[in-house]
Amino acid sequence: MAAPLNRIADPPRAADVVVVGGGIVGAASAFWLARAGHRPVLVERAAALASATTAASVHGVRAQWTDPENVAMIRESLDLFARFPEVLYLPPAEADIGLTRQGYLFASTDPGQRDALRARVERQHELGLADVALLDGEAVRRRFPWLTREVTAATFRAGDGWLDGRRAATLFARASGAPILLGTEVLEIERVGDRVVGVATSRGRVATDTVVLATGPFTAGPTGLAGEPLPLTLLRRHRLILAPHPGIPQDAPMTIDADTGAHWRPHGGGAVLAWPLPEPAMPPAFPVPPDPSFPALVLHDPRGVSRLAPFWRDVAATIPAVDLDLVAGQYTMTPDHKPLIGPAAHTVGLWLHTGYSGHGVMGSPSGGRLLADLITGRVPDAANPFRLGRFAEGVGLEVERGVL
Ligand SMILES: Cc1cc2nc3c(=O)[nH]c(=O)nc-3n(C[C@H](O)[C@H](O)[C@H](O)COP(=O)(O)OP(=O)(O)OC[C@H]3O[C@@H](n4cnc5c(N)ncnc54)[C@H](O)[C@@H]3O)c2cc1C
Repeated sequence: MAAPLNRIADPPRAADVVVVGGGIVGAASAFWLARAGHRPVLVERAAALASATTAASVHGVRAQWTDPENVAMIRESLDLFARFPEVLYLPPAEADIGLTRQGYLFASTDPGQRDALRARVERQHELGLADVALLDGEAVRRRFPWLTREVTAATFRAGDGWLDGRRAATLFARASGAPILLGTEVLEIERVGDRVVGVATSRGRVATDTVVLATGPFTAGPTGLAGEPLPLTLLRRHRLILAPHPGIPQDAPMTIDADTGAHWRPHGGGAVLAWPLPEPAMPPAFPVPPDPSFPALVLHDPRGVSRLAPFWRDVAATIPAVDLDLVAGQYTMTPDHKPLIGPAAHTVGLWLHTGYSGHGVMGSPSGGRLLADLITGRVPDAANPFRLGRFAEGVGLEVERGVL
């Protein structure tokens, strides 16, 4: 039996490292810091871990990216997730995170997209993802007969999939052995000159010279704890869960409309649906009020999920409204849609771990390992592709286009 969460009632007077934020990013940070020999304390203002953005996620995990940094990061994460019991030193039954590798399918009805999809796959092969397949309309319908005849091309990687990111976060926190303060808000990073000397919390002070900010959307903006401007913007994103319905194929992959961005995957006899539509940037919020028109949009709009998979029309016509569970959360976006991992610019001892731009569940296991390597000095920041300085340097800023 693995140790339970190491919850503590009161803040310690001092800590080696304070990790602020108990979502998957903070939990993975605490785990890798502990593994590297540190003794982190994890501070979360909510009453439970992983109850904010992480709880709103679709929990998809795909190596099918096209830029080298994301491919490397998420391949590493997928490998860690696949070996979770071994990595966490837990019995397999206790480290079950529901990793389901039914693949990720990007499909298009636009003949003009065929070349772009081919170019993506060629790039992925160059980057070592030899198992991404380019399929024409007929081949993809043979495999997934519920797709519309209008699909002209698709890319598929069978090893991609989804998991339970909340459970992964809780297990990371447990396996870290870190003392965990729940219901405790960090109010201020205390500094002397340009150095961190502690954190002021809603339940007392903790002296420390090292703080990791893993506060998700709450790292951004003038109210953020960093105390320096960061290139982060927040976008509202929705997730709709549908209760079990016989019309939803449970052996389907994560199915993404490469032309509109609408996507879905099976979930417990039903499905999870999402669609990153254009939204104005907004300040950090929790909870994030959802747009009540989202379910009708994703289910009934001709650009929604029924465009590629017409069975959704029947499901949408027959599913009772009570079987729909809508939540919203925020993507914490950076200008190049890659995370921000590494030291802050103006405060010695302050480390940033955020900005996953919508892929923090799949990125943070690897990102946490990188953060710990940076803090211990095993990896110099100059060799870190996710350093804050890249924006000023203008390097590595290529944004993944055409997909989520
Ligand atoms: C609709 C939606 C779908 C998504 N789908 C996917 C997906 O399929 N795959 C994927 O990889 N990612 C996905 N994401 C993104 C993913 O959910 C996030 O990248 C990830 O959860 C970010 O984790 P986090 O720990 O940084 O943030 P959070 O989970 O928000 O954790 C931050 C924590 O910090 C705490 N906190 C904030 N301020 C303080 C303070 N002052 N003191 C103490 N605690 C504080 C908060 O209470 C919170 O618990 C999705 C996101 C959304 C919204």
